[in-house]
Amino acid sequence: MSNENKSIHEFDFNLICEYYSGVERQGPGSPEVTIKALSFIDNLTSKSHIADIGCGTGGQTMVLAKHATGQITGVDLFSDFINLFNFNAEKLNLQERAKGIVGSMDNLPFQNEELDLIWSEGAIYNIGFQRGLNEWRKFLKTGGYIAVSEASWFTDERPDEINEFWQDAYPEIDTIPNKVSQMQKAGYIPVATFILPENCWTEHFYAPQVKVQEAFLKKYAGNKSAENLIASERHERKLYYKYKEYYGYVFYIGKKI
Ligand code: SAH
Repeated sequence: MSNENKSIHEFDFNLICEYYSGVERQGPGSPEVTIKALSFIDNLTSKSHIADIGCGTGGQTMVLAKHATGQITGVDLFSDFINLFNFNAEKLNLQERAKGIVGSMDNLPFQNEELDLIWSEGAIYNIGFQRGLNEWRKFLKTGGYIAVSEASWFTDERPDEINEFWQDAYPEIDTIPNKVSQMQKAGYIPVATFILPENCWTEHFYAPQVKVQEAFLKKYAGNKSAENLIASERHERKLYYKYKEYYGYVFYIGKKI
């Protein structure tokens, strides 16, 4: 496999963390999209408990905290991200309502039926869409909601180059009707589904990375791992622009029955 085709999990962990600590978001999304997804959730009160799983540095969590009532617990595997999360919460004076903790999505520190809402943008792929929907369900109260964004195919067929890229990066990528059906089978009413607009990738995800990439290549001149990471990010971005009519991120919102 050429370096160009390396997927992100094969790179040095610390380098990836440092790279993504430099941008507000670690996955495609936007404040508008977070607010839109939240508009389908109708069970929240000031006593609600929300979990944001794979919260990263908390870009979307802070938007949630501003627009939803209740307490939010952000969970992420990487302590550097959680430190930034809690720093950001304080900066915005949201520290009483949004707290970040280090933890893994396959071993979450919640009680059964404790949560009113599970949020997860661009992160459920780490455990897998179906496994996440199934395993996280027990933490939700009956009538509670789950809102996750997930890479999805827009068409039944697509060119080999992009198909192979995703089969290597995340073989669980699937079409929207298949994902909706998986959500229903996992015990949720599929309340809403919508495709994230392109600016979630271009403006909010890829554009802020340009500066970070330049600084990174300067700082780590001659470091093969760093150079490969940047080459891989740039390759992924190029593929997005070339094939964006075939795939993207989709929000899936379900209600536990
Ligand atoms: N929700 C954020 C981050 C998405 S990137 C955003 O939309 O900007 C995916 C996140 O999942 C990263 O922050 C990564 O650290 C986290 N992650 C990866 N594996 C994880 C695991 N096993 N448990 C919890 N978080 C994990």
